[in-house]
Amino acid sequence: MSQKIIVLPGDGIGPEIVAEGIKVLDKVREKFRLDLEWETALMGGVAYDKTGKPLPDETLDLCRKADAILFGAVGGPQYDSAPRELRPERGLLALRAELGLFSNLRPAVLFPQLAEASTLKPEVVSGLDIMIIRELTGGIYFGQPRGIETLPNGERRGFNTLEYTESEIERIGRSAFDIAMKRDKRVCSVDKANVLEFSELWREVLESVAKDYPEVTLSHMYVDNAAMQLVRMPKQFDVIVTTNMFGDILSDAAAMLTGSIGMLPSASLDANGKGLYEPIHGSAPDIVGKGLANPLATILSIAMMLRYSLGAEDAAVSIENAVSSVLDQGFRTADLGGGENAAKTAEMGDAVAAAL
Ligand code: NAD
Repeated sequence: MSQKIIVLPGDGIGPEIVAEGIKVLDKVREKFRLDLEWETALMGGVAYDKTGKPLPDETLDLCRKADAILFGAVGGPQYDSAPRELRPERGLLALRAELGLFSNLRPAVLFPQLAEASTLKPEVVSGLDIMIIRELTGGIYFGQPRGIETLPNGERRGFNTLEYTESEIERIGRSAFDIAMKRDKRVCSVDKANVLEFSELWREVLESVAKDYPEVTLSHMYVDNAAMQLVRMPKQFDVIVTTNMFGDILSDAAAMLTGSIGMLPSASLDANGKGLYEPIHGSAPDIVGKGLANPLATILSIAMMLRYSLGAEDAAVSIENAVSSVLDQGFRTADLGGGENAAKTAEMGDAVAAAL
């Protein structure tokens, strides 16, 4: 039976970069004779405009039935005045929650050809290949109680709750170990166990999960040290696994090691490996319709989709090799320092498809 992908282009540059991604997917389907089909659905601001909801029921239904979801980006200044619960970004949060996408994979890979584009010294980042796995549906962003209250003395107090159950820790731990098995077999768990009780439990559960993966080496690091090590010696890491909030911060720092936001893919997986794949950047309203958007983060997200949800590792590798080859050929979009001769969005997509 063929595998089904739901494509959600979204807003801003979303449709432009997703179009290039589909070009590449079409090519790879043909080359590897993959039994894949896809269908486009509404999501984000465009869905709000047409249906009054950022995540229409029909789209959610299609996503539930799909094997994987390819997502562009949502949002834009025209929606800033919409009611908070109807803003495009809320649709994405709802989709992640509805589908139980608890494991967020954020690779930070620096193609050696782009070492000069990083703000760090080339020798520190050249050849960088780390995977940050962030817990996505729990922790302090979801914990209850939360709020702002007024105390009897009239002063206000803001509070949130950082909580993780053993099962939540165990499933993100397993996700990290499974991925480490496909890589260099090293997991570094980042916590704050010297200060926070939940972190003690986190460490304990990670240690017990590790017993099922004797080939993988588990280490622990406090989050403050991890932030420092990421900019000091990032190549020491293979897989980093951490909580929702720590992962939010560390993965953005790691993203900058690689030079441009336009290069970074991501995956959000459920317990069965079904996933939503998206570039980490937003809808970039400042460059919409100008051919300036770098489609490589979306194209690399498709490689992740083939690897983690569709079981087509060879097709994934061939996309990654094709991206490397177009960089070798000198193709650069404006964000990669292409200057006057910068490749336009569609030229970059065409070049990757041709390299396949
Ligand atoms: P952004 O990521 O859209 O843009 C930040 C900067 O990076 C901009 O200068 C943009 O031009 C540039 N940029 C982003 N992607 C690029 C690409 N592929 N190629 C070249 N340059 C690129 O972040 P923002 O400006 O803070 O947010 C814009 C909108 O996107 C907001 O409405 C925000 O809420 C939304 N957003 C959506 C997502 C998502 O859909 N997952 C993520 C982040 C932000």
